[in-house]
Amino acid sequence: MTPSREDGTAPSGCLFCAIAEKRIPASIVYEDDRAVAFRDIRPQAPVHVLIIPRRHISSLSAVGDEDRELVGHLHRVANEIARRESVSRSGYRLVANCGPDAGQAVDHLHFHLLGGRPLGWPPG
Ligand code: 5GP
Ligand code: ZN
Repeated sequence: MTPSREDGTAPSGCLFCAIAEKRIPASIVYEDDRAVAFRDIRPQAPVHVLIIPRRHISSLSAVGDEDRELVGHLHRVANEIARRESVSRSGYRLVANCGPDAGQAVDHLHFHLLGGRPLGWPPG
């Protein structure tokens, strides 16, 4: 597969890098050496957690072959957070908005984990 490399260097103003480095406060629900998860400041569901890699990757489109393991890990973290937030059985959705048409507002890869209510489909 064609690699889509980034060097992991964050733009200096990256909000989610600042949250991962605890320069900006957030309600962190999980962290390890590669990933951080925190509650969305404007929750769209009773459970709304953002899961990010510590490494700066601007979007899903910038994920390269070298990030395969990392992206798999982020999904495993999502599964664990769903269990902790008690939505594993009721159900939840994992969403990555990528680019302008999807409304991506923060250019640091993040997965939204949404749950705790029935979620409409298709999304708007
Ligand atoms: P996007 O639209 O890029 O997929 O999602 C960005 C998300 O980040 C939005 O749901 C927004 O509410 C959330 N967000 C923006 N700024 C902050 C912040 O400072 N703290 C937290 N916890 N979430 C934020
Ligand atoms: Zn960043």
